[in-house]
Amino acid sequence: TTFQVTCSAVETDEGISVLLCFEDITPLEQVGQMRRDFVANVSHELRSPLTALLGFIETLQGPARNDPAATDRFLSTMQNEASRMERLVRDLLSLSRVEAQERVRPTKPIDLVAILRTVIHANAPLLKDAGVTCTLEVDMDNLELPGDADQLQQVFTNLIENAVKYGGSNNAIRMSIHVEDDHPALRGPCAIVTVADQGPGIDPVHIPRLTERFYRIDNHRSREMGGTGLGLAIVKHVVSRHRGRLKIQSESGQGSQFQVILPRELPLDAS
Ligand code: ADP
Repeated sequence: TTFQVTCSAVETDEGISVLLCFEDITPLEQVGQMRRDFVANVSHELRSPLTALLGFIETLQGPARNDPAATDRFLSTMQNEASRMERLVRDLLSLSRVEAQERVRPTKPIDLVAILRTVIHANAPLLKDAGVTCTLEVDMDNLELPGDADQLQQVFTNLIENAVKYGGSNNAIRMSIHVEDDHPALRGPCAIVTVADQGPGIDPVHIPRLTERFYRIDNHRSREMGGTGLGLAIVKHVVSRHRGRLKIQSESGQGSQFQVILPRELPLDAS
């Protein structure tokens, strides 16, 4: 606990009165610390591809200048490093946009079934390259609820990308939507989208921290797979903007299941 102490003294006819004021500034300190950690993390994440790029540029200007094969190899690595920086900046912008809008709950009706079909269609090349199948179980043609279509597309894209990245070989992704009339946590009707993979799963000790920015179970694997460490943080903020819930269930060796639970009722002020 951090206290800020302010001291003031007043001189009166009866002598000097001293007023000591103790204020608990722990929450402020924590926010400050989180901000500092975030800046340190971003700087670190940007610095490694930048250092690599500078190194390659130097080599291309010097020893590799007249070696076409080496030039091709270096240029392709440089492209990968630059793409990594681009993905990081893109995810940072998405995260800051959702955070800025977090108090503004979306009110426009969107069709959740259409969104999932669009996301699966858009990710078909990724699934094909990875040799992973993705099925969608849904027993309705459409399902309307108040939402932000672009942000929800990003949520399901991130979950599918993760299921592919961490699902290992012989993976099959199952997606489903079902509705509940009275969800206990949301106290009303909701839609539940499940994205389940058959990968090696997640040790439960990591689950509570997965939505923290830059939290990765295996840094090397995440980077190798092109991860920025921000995907689930974006998912969490979008779901929270929709006043929904994110549920993660997994056990090592059992595959992972991510559930996005979204309220189906319009907020009162919009009806
Ligand atoms: P990243 O860009 O590293 O994928 P995310 O925020 O999307 O960042 O995910 C955070 C971490 O959660 C990942 O680095 C990975 O360790 C773990 N993770 C996410 N999805 C899965 C999954 N489907 N199976 C196993 N681990 C996962």
